[in-house]
Amino acid sequence: MSTKEILKEFMLTPAPSGYESEMACKLKAHLEPLCEEVHLDRLGNVIAKVPGTNPALPRAMIFGHMDQLGFIVRRVESDGFIQVDRLGGIPEKVLPGLQLLLRSEDGKWHLGVFGNKAHHATPAEEKYKVDLVTSLFVDIGAKSADEVHALGIYPGCPVIYRPAFEELCGNRVTGTAVDNRGACACLVEIARLFQEAPPACDVYLVGTVWEEFNLRGAMMAARTVKPDLALSLDVTLAADTRDLSSKFEDVMGQGPCVGLYSFHGRGTLNGTLPHEPLFRLAKRTAKETNSPLQRFAALGILTDASYIQLEGEGVACLDMGFPARYTHTPVEVCDVGDIDALAALCAGMMRRIDENFPVGRF
Ligand SMILES: [Zn+2]
Repeated sequence: MSTKEILKEFMLTPAPSGYESEMACKLKAHLEPLCEEVHLDRLGNVIAKVPGTNPALPRAMIFGHMDQLGFIVRRVESDGFIQVDRLGGIPEKVLPGLQLLLRSEDGKWHLGVFGNKAHHATPAEEKYKVDLVTSLFVDIGAKSADEVHALGIYPGCPVIYRPAFEELCGNRVTGTAVDNRGACACLVEIARLFQEAPPACDVYLVGTVWEEFNLRGAMMAARTVKPDLALSLDVTLAADTRDLSSKFEDVMGQGPCVGLYSFHGRGTLNGTLPHEPLFRLAKRTAKETNSPLQRFAALGILTDASYIQLEGEGVACLDMGFPARYTHTPVEVCDVGDIDALAALCAGMMRRIDENFPVGRF
């Protein structure tokens, strides 16, 4: 299967934070024929081992989160409408009028829509204001709370954008959960590339849970794998649209990115400053393999690398990714070529780890 076909399969798989099992099984099935051993840990992280040519070298973990953002049912009204709250960073501007899937307690998915006041009856002053997610309501066609409950839908049930995947021009695709199924597809491609030429060090390819919820699912995978160094794979914010072109530099279709600064202060207080030897390895590998390499640095963003770096005696971490547009909307866009190029760069880096590679920062 091509990366685009795998990405399509992954994007169409519903997996809100905490309910990643279907996605985990699919990732495991793709990795199994390519890796020495694949298992799921207690939280649902997928952990696959690819042995290196020299097991004495530092151990590496390359990981990307499998979960996606969504909503949680908060209250079922007596007239059958459903109120939700957010699970992850939801852009409230895009919500009214969207199709949704609601997961009932027996694990089945049910179609619903976010209602929007009839346009003909919307006064001018309401047309230009954004409603909070807590003031929206979900319509599944039910006429009463009993009808909703009969389907197994109660407070606590997760809700996601209706999964979508469509091809655009060239090698570009659009749909739901490009963040971060692009990285999951990348993990499969890395495993495939290791079949052609193995890594120098042992590499664990890991699909993680809970990133969009509390960023800490990956932490538990790191406690099993005990890596010395780690590459985190996630989207970066493509700056090639007119609304972001003066803010960042990364451009879709121009190859993989390294994340050189992430920080989130409000409540979370975490971030990642890159491990410089890993960054130098990324630059050297890109040069030697004629790969482009873009730089991305942003405030207000956090990845699960921030938590991995604090595990054990400390883990050398580098954020890596591929540019994506319209993040956290149901029409995220990416260029599949960037995902393939990211995989090639990561595989190349792992083939270049040697006994002189410093896992310390200095
Ligand atoms: Zn992400």
